[in-house]
Amino acid sequence: MTLRLRGVRYRYGEGVVLAFPDLDVPQGGRLALLGPSGSGKTTLLHLLAGLRVPEAGEVWVGEKNLAALGEAERDAFRRQKVGYLFQDFHLMEGYTALENVLLGLGLAGVRGASALRRAREVLEALGLGHRLDHPPRRLSTGERQRVALARAVAHRPALLLADEPTAHLDRPRAAAALELLLQTAASLEATLVVATHDPWVAERFPQKVDLGALASWEGV
Ligand code: ADP
Ligand code: MG
Repeated sequence: MTLRLRGVRYRYGEGVVLAFPDLDVPQGGRLALLGPSGSGKTTLLHLLAGLRVPEAGEVWVGEKNLAALGEAERDAFRRQKVGYLFQDFHLMEGYTALENVLLGLGLAGVRGASALRRAREVLEALGLGHRLDHPPRRLSTGERQRVALARAVAHRPALLLADEPTAHLDRPRAAAALELLLQTAASLEATLVVATHDPWVAERFPQKVDLGALASWEGV
């Protein structure tokens, strides 16, 4: 899916407005959002996911301007088309790895035997075939991240968003996690956007935006 940002501004409360640079990403593109903590990376991922709506501007994801959609249409769009890997994974503790993925598929409208087959397939493809019945607390950090990735991609999203996917990992594990994300996006033919504070991570992406340099705060 293509991405196009035009004149996007997001307001937190009364004090400040965050202004984002205009941006174009081709179908199947790989974009790194680089910037220090507080530069607006997570906010921009939320805007691209339709989790937040800008105060001004256009957020085109494929043929839809998310900023112009109603809430129900935006939610439906996100559930069908977007995969989101949260920084802290957001796994459900009371459920197994398999159930976590099934819950995500259910939100996308995939249920029953086909959901079960899909969830197993995705977890196995991510090297978690032996962890299906484990709850998140019995998994390593890397395994929890892969369960979260399985949940993010099981419904085959056209847009994959990942927030600081290497934050919890040392360099070798970070490199492996990035490789897995890139491979997964490629196999889905999905567009991939990764937020990171780490220039070493951003270097691995063909397209980069430095929010620290380009996004601007304005006192209001
Ligand atoms: P990053 O992901 O790059 O660390 P964020 O998008 O989380 O940046 O935040 C951008 C800015 O918006 C930060 O300076 C932060 O203080 C502010 N901000 C983020 N979330 C909130 C919130 N819920 N309420 C008020 N301000 C927020
Ligand atoms: Mg963040």
